[in-house]
Amino acid sequence: MKNIMLMTPGPTTIHESVRMAASLPITNPDLDPSYYEFHKKTCDDLKAIFHTQNETLILDGEGILGLEASCASLIEPGDRVLCIDNGIFGNGFGDFAKMYGAEVIYFKTDYEKSVSPELLESFLAEDHNFKLATLVHCETPSGITNPVDQICPILKKYGMLSVVDSVSALGGEELFVDDWQMDVVIAGSQKCLSAAPGLTLMSISSDAWNMIESRKSPITGFYLNLTIWKNWYENKWFPYTQPISQIYQLEVALTRAINDSALISRHHQMAQATRESFIKAGFDLYAKDGFSNTVTTVCMPIGMTFKELFDTLLEEHSILIGGGIGHLKDQVFRIGHMGENCYPDKIWLTLRALDQVFEKFNIKKSSSLHKNFTEEISSFI
Ligand SMILES: *Cc1c(COP(=O)(O)O)cnc(C)c1O
Repeated sequence: MKNIMLMTPGPTTIHESVRMAASLPITNPDLDPSYYEFHKKTCDDLKAIFHTQNETLILDGEGILGLEASCASLIEPGDRVLCIDNGIFGNGFGDFAKMYGAEVIYFKTDYEKSVSPELLESFLAEDHNFKLATLVHCETPSGITNPVDQICPILKKYGMLSVVDSVSALGGEELFVDDWQMDVVIAGSQKCLSAAPGLTLMSISSDAWNMIESRKSPITGFYLNLTIWKNWYENKWFPYTQPISQIYQLEVALTRAINDSALISRHHQMAQATRESFIKAGFDLYAKDGFSNTVTTVCMPIGMTFKELFDTLLEEHSILIGGGIGHLKDQVFRIGHMGENCYPDKIWLTLRALDQVFEKFNIKKSSSLHKNFTEEISSFI
Protein backbone atom coordinates (compact mmCIF):
# COMPACT_ATOMS: atom_id res chain seq x y z
CA MET A 1 0.00 0.00 0.00
CA LYS A 2 1.35 3.42 -0.87
CA ASN A 3 1.83 6.08 1.75
CA ILE A 4 -1.28 8.24 1.77
CA MET A 5 -2.52 11.15 3.82
CA LEU A 6 -5.60 10.00 5.67
CA MET A 7 -8.13 12.86 5.86
CA THR A 8 -11.20 10.69 6.44
CA PRO A 9 -13.47 11.09 9.46
CA GLY A 10 -11.87 8.04 11.06
CA PRO A 11 -9.76 6.05 11.08
CA THR A 12 -7.30 8.93 11.37
CA THR A 13 -3.53 9.11 11.01
CA ILE A 14 -1.68 7.44 13.87
CA HIS A 15 1.20 9.38 15.39
CA GLU A 16 4.56 7.64 15.19
CA SER A 17 4.82 7.32 18.98
CA VAL A 18 1.44 5.56 19.03
CA ARG A 19 2.38 3.38 16.09
CA MET A 20 5.64 2.31 17.72
CA ALA A 21 3.89 1.36 20.97
CA ALA A 22 2.47 -1.70 19.19
CA SER A 23 5.99 -3.04 18.78
CA LEU A 24 6.72 -3.19 22.53
CA PRO A 25 7.23 -6.66 23.97
CA ILE A 26 4.06 -8.13 25.41
CA THR A 27 3.40 -9.94 28.63
CA ASN A 28 0.61 -12.31 29.60
CA PRO A 29 -2.11 -9.82 30.56
CA ASP A 30 -4.04 -12.39 32.60
CA LEU A 31 -1.10 -13.41 34.76
CA ASP A 32 1.29 -10.45 35.01
CA PRO A 33 0.30 -8.23 37.98
CA SER A 34 2.00 -5.21 36.38
CA TYR A 35 -0.36 -5.45 33.43
CA TYR A 36 -3.37 -4.93 35.74
CA GLU A 37 -1.77 -1.71 37.00
CA PHE A 38 -1.11 -0.57 33.44
CA HIS A 39 -4.69 -1.35 32.40
CA LYS A 40 -6.04 0.53 35.41
CA LYS A 41 -3.88 3.55 34.60
CA THR A 42 -5.22 3.52 31.06
CA CYS A 43 -8.81 3.44 32.39
CA ASP A 44 -7.93 6.35 34.70
CA ASP A 45 -6.63 8.29 31.69
CA LEU A 46 -9.99 7.62 30.08
CA LYS A 47 -11.70 9.17 33.10
CA ALA A 48 -9.65 12.31 32.55
CA ILE A 49 -10.68 12.51 28.88
CA PHE A 50 -14.36 11.80 29.65
CA HIS A 51 -14.23 14.17 32.64
CA THR A 52 -15.87 11.64 34.92
CA GLN A 53 -15.61 9.76 38.19
CA ASN A 54 -17.73 6.98 36.67
CA GLU A 55 -16.27 3.60 35.86
CA THR A 56 -14.54 3.46 32.48
CA LEU A 57 -13.99 0.33 30.42
CA ILE A 58 -12.06 -0.71 27.34
CA LEU A 59 -13.87 -3.29 25.21
CA ASP A 60 -12.08 -5.39 22.63
CA GLY A 61 -13.94 -4.33 19.51
CA GLU A 62 -14.51 -1.20 17.44
CA GLY A 63 -17.10 1.39 18.66
CA ILE A 64 -20.10 -0.52 17.34
CA LEU A 65 -19.41 -3.14 20.03
CA GLY A 66 -20.09 -0.45 22.65
CA LEU A 67 -23.42 0.48 21.06
CA GLU A 68 -24.52 -3.14 20.94
CA ALA A 69 -23.18 -4.02 24.41
CA SER A 70 -25.10 -1.07 25.91
CA CYS A 71 -28.33 -2.25 24.32
CA ALA A 72 -27.74 -5.90 25.25
CA SER A 73 -26.92 -5.06 28.87
CA LEU A 74 -29.51 -2.35 29.57
CA ILE A 75 -32.57 -3.37 27.56
CA GLU A 76 -35.05 -6.08 28.47
CA PRO A 77 -37.71 -7.29 26.05
CA GLY A 78 -40.67 -4.90 26.04
CA ASP A 79 -38.78 -1.89 27.42
CA ARG A 80 -39.75 1.42 25.87
CA VAL A 81 -36.68 3.13 24.40
CA LEU A 82 -36.54 6.62 22.94
CA CYS A 83 -34.32 6.86 19.87
CA ILE A 84 -33.26 10.45 19.24
CA ASP A 85 -32.77 10.48 15.50
CA ASN A 86 -31.31 13.31 13.43
CA GLY A 87 -29.05 11.21 11.24
CA ILE A 88 -27.85 7.83 10.06
CA PHE A 89 -26.10 6.78 13.28
CA GLY A 90 -28.93 8.10 15.45
CA ASN A 91 -31.48 6.10 13.49
CA GLY A 92 -29.29 2.98 13.45
CA PHE A 93 -29.01 3.00 17.24
CA GLY A 94 -32.73 2.20 17.29
CA ASP A 95 -32.05 -0.98 15.28
CA PHE A 96 -29.68 -2.25 17.99
CA ALA A 97 -32.29 -1.50 20.67
CA LYS A 98 -34.90 -3.47 18.69
CA MET A 99 -32.54 -6.47 18.41
CA TYR A 100 -32.69 -6.76 22.19
CA GLY A 101 -36.48 -6.54 22.31
CA ALA A 102 -37.07 -2.83 22.90
CA GLU A 103 -40.20 -1.07 21.79
CA VAL A 104 -38.47 1.83 20.05
CA ILE A 105 -40.13 5.23 19.68
CA TYR A 106 -38.29 7.61 17.35
CA PHE A 107 -37.95 11.31 18.09
CA LYS A 108 -36.98 12.20 14.54
CA THR A 109 -35.88 15.72 13.71
CA ASP A 110 -34.48 17.58 10.69
CA TYR A 111 -31.40 15.67 9.40
CA GLU A 112 -29.74 18.95 8.36
CA LYS A 113 -29.85 20.41 11.86
CA SER A 114 -28.78 19.53 15.38
CA VAL A 115 -31.40 18.21 17.80
CA SER A 116 -33.33 21.04 19.44
CA PRO A 117 -33.48 20.68 23.24
CA GLU A 118 -36.68 22.76 23.25
CA LEU A 119 -38.47 20.41 20.82
CA LEU A 120 -37.27 17.42 22.81
CA GLU A 121 -38.50 18.97 26.03
CA SER A 122 -41.99 19.56 24.61
CA PHE A 123 -42.07 16.01 23.23
CA LEU A 124 -41.11 14.61 26.64
CA ALA A 125 -43.67 16.77 28.43
CA GLU A 126 -46.33 14.67 26.61
CA ASP A 127 -44.63 11.26 26.89
CA HIS A 128 -41.63 10.42 29.01
CA ASN A 129 -42.37 6.83 29.94
CA PHE A 130 -39.02 5.56 28.63
CA LYS A 131 -36.38 3.48 30.32
CA LEU A 132 -33.60 5.10 28.36
CA ALA A 133 -32.83 7.25 25.35
CA THR A 134 -30.18 6.65 22.70
CA LEU A 135 -28.53 9.59 20.99
CA VAL A 136 -25.47 10.54 18.97
CA HIS A 137 -23.04 13.27 19.98
CA CYS A 138 -21.57 13.90 16.53
CA GLU A 139 -23.44 12.62 13.46
CA THR A 140 -20.35 11.86 11.40
CA PRO A 141 -22.11 11.41 8.02
CA SER A 142 -23.71 14.87 8.11
CA GLY A 143 -21.08 16.72 10.16
CA ILE A 144 -23.51 17.77 12.91
CA THR A 145 -22.80 17.89 16.64
CA ASN A 146 -25.78 17.62 18.97
CA PRO A 147 -26.00 19.65 22.20
CA VAL A 148 -25.63 16.69 24.55
CA ASP A 149 -24.76 19.16 27.31
CA GLN A 150 -28.41 20.30 27.23
CA ILE A 151 -30.10 17.08 26.13
CA CYS A 152 -28.73 14.71 28.79
CA PRO A 153 -29.87 16.80 31.78
CA ILE A 154 -33.38 16.97 30.24
CA LEU A 155 -33.44 13.18 29.92
CA LYS A 156 -32.31 12.86 33.53
CA LYS A 157 -35.03 15.25 34.64
CA TYR A 158 -37.63 12.98 33.03
CA GLY A 159 -36.15 9.95 34.78
CA MET A 160 -34.50 8.17 31.89
CA LEU A 161 -30.96 7.08 31.23
CA SER A 162 -28.91 8.57 28.39
CA VAL A 163 -26.85 6.26 26.16
CA VAL A 164 -24.65 8.44 24.00
CA ASP A 165 -22.60 7.53 20.93
CA SER A 166 -19.65 9.90 21.14
CA VAL A 167 -17.45 7.82 18.83
CA SER A 168 -16.54 10.71 16.54
CA ALA A 169 -16.60 13.44 19.23
CA LEU A 170 -14.58 12.35 22.27
CA GLY A 171 -11.21 14.07 22.00
CA GLY A 172 -12.44 16.65 19.47
CA GLU A 173 -15.52 18.18 21.07
CA GLU A 174 -16.00 19.27 24.66
CA LEU A 175 -17.31 16.39 26.74
CA PHE A 176 -18.04 16.61 30.47
CA VAL A 177 -19.75 13.36 31.41
CA ASP A 178 -20.38 14.18 35.08
CA ASP A 179 -21.35 17.84 34.65
CA TRP A 180 -23.71 16.93 31.82
CA GLN A 181 -25.24 13.98 33.71
CA MET A 182 -24.46 11.46 30.98
CA ASP A 183 -25.03 7.81 31.88
CA VAL A 184 -23.45 5.62 29.23
CA VAL A 185 -21.00 7.21 26.83
CA ILE A 186 -19.35 5.25 24.03
CA ALA A 187 -16.23 6.25 22.12
CA GLY A 188 -13.76 4.59 19.79
CA SER A 189 -9.99 4.44 19.51
CA GLN A 190 -9.73 5.34 15.82
CA LYS A 191 -11.37 8.76 15.51
CA CYS A 192 -10.31 11.86 17.47
CA LEU A 193 -7.92 9.89 19.68
CA SER A 194 -6.01 8.64 16.63
CA ALA A 195 -5.15 5.18 17.91
CA ALA A 196 -5.54 2.01 15.87
CA PRO A 197 -9.11 0.90 15.10
CA GLY A 198 -10.41 -1.91 17.28
CA LEU A 199 -11.29 -0.63 20.74
CA THR A 200 -14.46 0.71 22.35
CA LEU A 201 -14.04 3.13 25.25
CA MET A 202 -16.93 3.47 27.66
CA SER A 203 -18.02 5.48 30.66
CA ILE A 204 -20.82 3.96 32.75
CA SER A 205 -22.70 5.76 35.54
CA SER A 206 -23.89 4.16 38.76
CA ASP A 207 -27.51 4.67 37.60
CA ALA A 208 -26.67 2.59 34.53
CA TRP A 209 -25.03 -0.15 36.63
CA ASN A 210 -28.09 -0.16 38.91
CA MET A 211 -30.36 -0.60 35.91
CA ILE A 212 -28.24 -3.49 34.65
CA GLU A 213 -28.16 -5.14 38.06
CA SER A 214 -31.89 -4.84 38.66
CA ARG A 215 -32.85 -6.61 35.43
CA LYS A 216 -35.46 -9.34 35.70
CA SER A 217 -34.20 -11.36 32.74
CA PRO A 218 -30.58 -12.46 32.22
CA ILE A 219 -28.40 -10.70 29.67
CA THR A 220 -28.17 -12.53 26.36
CA GLY A 221 -24.60 -13.23 25.32
CA PHE A 222 -21.23 -13.03 27.01
CA TYR A 223 -19.10 -10.63 24.98
CA LEU A 224 -21.90 -8.02 25.06
CA ASN A 225 -22.58 -8.40 28.77
CA LEU A 226 -21.02 -5.48 30.62
CA THR A 227 -21.26 -7.20 34.00
CA ILE A 228 -18.41 -9.55 33.04
CA TRP A 229 -16.17 -6.55 33.76
CA LYS A 230 -17.34 -6.07 37.33
CA ASN A 231 -14.39 -5.82 39.75
CA TRP A 232 -11.79 -6.91 37.19
CA TYR A 233 -9.13 -4.89 39.00
CA GLU A 234 -9.98 -6.02 42.55
CA ASN A 235 -10.18 -9.65 41.48
CA LYS A 236 -7.23 -9.41 39.08
CA TRP A 237 -9.31 -11.19 36.51
CA PHE A 238 -10.19 -10.29 32.92
CA PRO A 239 -13.16 -11.88 31.18
CA TYR A 240 -10.95 -12.65 28.18
CA THR A 241 -7.36 -12.05 27.06
CA GLN A 242 -6.76 -8.36 26.51
CA PRO A 243 -5.53 -7.04 23.13
CA ILE A 244 -2.42 -5.80 24.87
CA SER A 245 -0.61 -4.24 21.89
CA GLN A 246 -3.65 -2.14 20.99
CA ILE A 247 -4.01 -1.02 24.58
CA TYR A 248 -0.31 0.00 24.64
CA GLN A 249 -1.13 2.21 21.68
CA LEU A 250 -4.26 3.59 23.30
CA GLU A 251 -2.34 4.58 26.41
CA VAL A 252 0.18 6.60 24.39
CA ALA A 253 -2.62 8.23 22.39
CA LEU A 254 -4.53 9.14 25.56
CA THR A 255 -1.40 10.61 27.16
CA ARG A 256 -0.83 12.72 24.04
CA ALA A 257 -4.42 13.98 24.16
CA ILE A 258 -4.35 14.71 27.91
CA ASN A 259 -1.08 16.66 27.65
CA ASP A 260 -2.33 18.72 24.70
CA SER A 261 -3.82 21.82 26.30
CA ALA A 262 -4.95 23.12 22.89
CA LEU A 263 -6.70 19.89 21.89
CA ILE A 264 -10.28 21.11 21.88
CA SER A 265 -9.57 24.73 20.91
CA ARG A 266 -7.54 23.52 17.90
CA HIS A 267 -10.48 21.38 16.76
CA HIS A 268 -12.74 24.44 17.02
CA GLN A 269 -10.34 26.64 15.09
CA MET A 270 -9.49 24.18 12.34
CA ALA A 271 -13.15 23.28 11.84
CA GLN A 272 -14.16 26.90 11.62
CA ALA A 273 -11.37 27.76 9.19
CA THR A 274 -12.23 24.74 7.03
CA ARG A 275 -15.91 25.67 6.88
CA GLU A 276 -15.18 29.31 6.10
CA SER A 277 -12.78 28.32 3.31
CA PHE A 278 -15.52 26.34 1.56
CA ILE A 279 -18.23 28.95 2.12
CA LYS A 280 -16.05 31.79 0.79
CA ALA A 281 -15.26 29.75 -2.33
CA GLY A 282 -19.00 29.30 -2.99
CA PHE A 283 -19.54 25.73 -1.78
CA ASP A 284 -22.56 24.65 0.28
CA LEU A 285 -22.12 22.82 3.56
CA TYR A 286 -24.62 20.02 4.15
CA ALA A 287 -25.39 21.08 7.73
CA LYS A 288 -27.60 24.10 8.41
CA ASP A 289 -26.49 24.41 12.05
CA GLY A 290 -24.70 22.44 14.78
CA PHE A 291 -21.49 22.33 12.71
CA SER A 292 -19.16 19.59 13.90
CA ASN A 293 -15.66 20.43 15.04
CA THR A 294 -14.37 17.05 13.91
CA VAL A 295 -15.77 16.58 10.39
CA THR A 296 -16.98 18.90 7.64
CA THR A 297 -19.54 17.63 5.13
CA VAL A 298 -19.63 19.59 1.87
CA CYS A 299 -22.20 19.23 -0.93
CA MET A 300 -20.69 17.92 -4.18
CA PRO A 301 -20.39 20.69 -6.76
CA ILE A 302 -22.29 20.27 -10.02
CA GLY A 303 -20.08 19.02 -12.86
CA MET A 304 -18.22 16.13 -11.31
CA THR A 305 -19.03 12.93 -9.48
CA PHE A 306 -17.81 11.95 -6.05
CA LYS A 307 -15.96 9.03 -7.62
CA GLU A 308 -14.03 11.40 -9.88
CA LEU A 309 -13.12 13.57 -6.92
CA PHE A 310 -12.13 10.64 -4.71
CA ASP A 311 -10.11 8.83 -7.38
CA THR A 312 -8.25 11.93 -8.59
CA LEU A 313 -7.36 13.04 -5.06
CA LEU A 314 -6.03 9.60 -4.30
CA GLU A 315 -4.19 8.98 -7.56
CA GLU A 316 -2.70 12.42 -8.10
CA HIS A 317 -2.33 13.69 -4.53
CA SER A 318 -2.30 10.55 -2.35
CA ILE A 319 -5.02 12.00 -0.15
CA LEU A 320 -7.98 9.97 1.06
CA ILE A 321 -11.24 11.77 1.92
CA GLY A 322 -14.66 10.45 2.91
CA GLY A 323 -17.88 10.37 0.93
CA GLY A 324 -21.58 10.21 1.67
CA ILE A 325 -23.31 7.22 3.15
CA GLY A 326 -26.98 6.23 3.02
CA HIS A 327 -29.12 9.01 1.54
CA LEU A 328 -25.99 11.17 1.14
CA LYS A 329 -24.21 8.72 -1.17
CA ASP A 330 -22.59 10.67 -4.05
CA GLN A 331 -24.16 13.89 -2.71
CA VAL A 332 -21.37 15.04 -0.38
CA PHE A 333 -17.69 14.72 0.42
CA ARG A 334 -16.29 14.77 3.93
CA ILE A 335 -13.05 15.94 5.46
CA GLY A 336 -12.14 14.57 8.83
CA HIS A 337 -10.20 17.23 10.73
CA MET A 338 -10.00 15.23 13.94
CA GLY A 339 -7.16 13.93 16.09
CA GLU A 340 -3.85 13.83 14.24
CA ASN A 341 -5.57 15.20 11.10
CA CYS A 342 -6.44 18.38 12.93
CA TYR A 343 -3.36 20.44 12.09
CA PRO A 344 -3.13 23.40 9.69
CA ASP A 345 -0.49 21.81 7.42
CA LYS A 346 -2.58 18.72 6.69
CA ILE A 347 -5.79 20.66 6.08
CA TRP A 348 -3.95 23.20 3.91
CA LEU A 349 -2.45 20.42 1.75
CA THR A 350 -5.87 18.81 1.43
CA LEU A 351 -7.52 22.06 0.37
CA ARG A 352 -4.75 22.85 -2.12
CA ALA A 353 -5.16 19.39 -3.65
CA LEU A 354 -8.93 19.93 -3.80
CA ASP A 355 -8.33 23.28 -5.55
CA GLN A 356 -6.23 21.51 -8.18
CA VAL A 357 -8.74 18.71 -8.71
CA PHE A 358 -11.66 21.13 -9.03
CA GLU A 359 -9.67 23.20 -11.54
CA LYS A 360 -8.89 20.07 -13.55
CA PHE A 361 -12.62 19.35 -13.82
CA ASN A 362 -13.49 23.02 -14.54
CA ILE A 363 -15.56 23.39 -11.39
CA LYS A 364 -16.35 27.03 -10.69
CA LYS A 365 -15.11 28.46 -7.39
CA SER A 366 -15.20 32.09 -6.39
CA SER A 367 -11.84 31.83 -4.59
CA SER A 368 -9.08 29.40 -3.74
CA LEU A 369 -9.81 27.05 -0.84
CA HIS A 370 -6.25 26.87 0.43
CA LYS A 371 -5.71 30.63 0.20
CA ASN A 372 -8.95 31.19 2.08
CA PHE A 373 -7.67 28.77 4.71
CA THR A 374 -4.35 30.62 5.07
CA GLU A 375 -6.29 33.84 5.65
CA GLU A 376 -8.65 32.21 8.13
CA ILE A 377 -5.93 30.69 10.28
CA SER A 378 -3.73 33.81 10.24
CA SER A 379 -6.06 35.26 12.87
CA PHE A 380 -5.33 32.30 15.17
CA ILE A 381 -1.55 32.35 15.05
C1 LIG B 1 -17.27 5.76 13.33
C2 LIG B 1 -18.51 5.78 14.10
C3 LIG B 1 -19.00 4.62 14.70
C4 LIG B 1 -18.32 3.32 14.50
O1 LIG B 1 -18.75 2.88 13.25
P1 LIG B 1 -17.86 2.23 12.11
O2 LIG B 1 -18.82 2.18 10.96
O3 LIG B 1 -17.45 0.90 12.56
O4 LIG B 1 -16.69 3.13 11.85
C5 LIG B 1 -20.14 4.72 15.48
N1 LIG B 1 -20.77 5.90 15.64
C6 LIG B 1 -20.34 7.03 15.06
C7 LIG B 1 -21.10 8.31 15.27
C8 LIG B 1 -19.20 7.01 14.27
O5 LIG B 1 -18.75 8.13 13.69
